[in-house]
Amino acid sequence: MQFREATPEERKIYYNEEWGGKRDLPDYVLHSLSMREFGFDHDGSGPNDRKNQFLTVDQLESYLRTKAPYSAYVSVAQYEEPSLMKGWLRAELAFDVDAKDLPAKRCCGQGQVCESCLEEARRVICMIGDVLRSDLGLRELRYSYSGRGFHLRVLDEAVQRLGSTARNEIVSYVVGCVLPADLSLALGYPRVFRSYAARILGRLDERTLQAEGIRRAAKILEHRDKIISSLESGRVEGLRELEGIGEQTLQSLLEVLRKLNSEQEDGRVTVDVRRILRLPSSLHSGVSMKCVEIRDIERFTLDQAVPKFVGERVGG
Ligand SMILES: [Zn+2]
Repeated sequence: MQFREATPEERKIYYNEEWGGKRDLPDYVLHSLSMREFGFDHDGSGPNDRKNQFLTVDQLESYLRTKAPYSAYVSVAQYEEPSLMKGWLRAELAFDVDAKDLPAKRCCGQGQVCESCLEEARRVICMIGDVLRSDLGLRELRYSYSGRGFHLRVLDEAVQRLGSTARNEIVSYVVGCVLPADLSLALGYPRVFRSYAARILGRLDERTLQAEGIRRAAKILEHRDKIISSLESGRVEGLRELEGIGEQTLQSLLEVLRKLNSEQEDGRVTVDVRRILRLPSSLHSGVSMKCVEIRDIERFTLDQAVPKFVGERVGG
C-alpha cells in the first residue's frame, strides 16, 4: 500500500462523489451533532480552525462538500455551547493507538507507518477493547481507523462524565502502565500487565534492551521464550529460576516493559476531555485513506479504507 498526500482536487472528488454524508457518519455523532465541536485543517498545517458548530447534518454535509478540507475532526465532548467550548456536558472515553509511535517497532522506524505496524496497532487496540469489556464491564465500544492507527471511543454512560484523573487511572489499568504489587495474580490487573509485557518482550531486540539500560540483554533474549510463557501463564516463579538472570536484572526488565507498555497508547488523548479526533468517514489527506468507522475490528483490513480515487489510480 502506498501512502501519499491527496491533492485538493482529490479531496473535492472524495467529498462530492464518494463520501455518503449522513449514511457514513457514526450514529453517536449524528445523535449529538449540534452539541459537538468540529475542527478543520484546511492546508495540512494542523487543525487550527476549531470551535465550529453545525446545527444540522445538512449544514455539515454542505460544508464538507464545499470546502473539502485537508482533515476534519469532531470533539469527544458535548457542550451546551460548542462554538465556545462552554457548558461541558460529557465526553466519550477515547483511546488512540498510533502506529508511528508504537514502542519496539522493527518495521519502518519511529515516526513512520507501514502495513505491518498498522497491523500491530490494530492488535493493541483490540487488546484495549478486550480489557475494557472483560475487566471494566464496558459495552459500548466504537472503533475507527485514524489513517495512522486506530481510535476507540467508549460511549457507556458510566464513563461519560469522568474527569481527567479518573480517565488517567483507567488508561493506566487497561494499557498496563504500573508494575503490579503481585505479578502472579491470575486475574485482574496483573494479568493485564503481563499480557502486554509478554507481547512487547517478543518484539524487543538486544539494541533496544541495551538502550533502555538493561546490561544483561543477551541473557534475557536467550531466555526470552521462557520469560514470555511465564508472563502469559502467570507462573512467575519461573522467572526467578533463569540461569544468569538475577533479581536486579529481572526488576529492571519489568520496569522497561512497564515503560514500553505505557507508550502503546497516547495517554494525552485519553485524559483530555476536550479533545478533537478525526471525524469517522472523513479523508486523511496526508496518507489518502478514509478514516472509516469499523464495525468488526477483528476482521478489519486496510483495503476497507482505500478511497476510490486511490483504487482507480492503482488499478489503472
Ligand atoms: Zn511500520
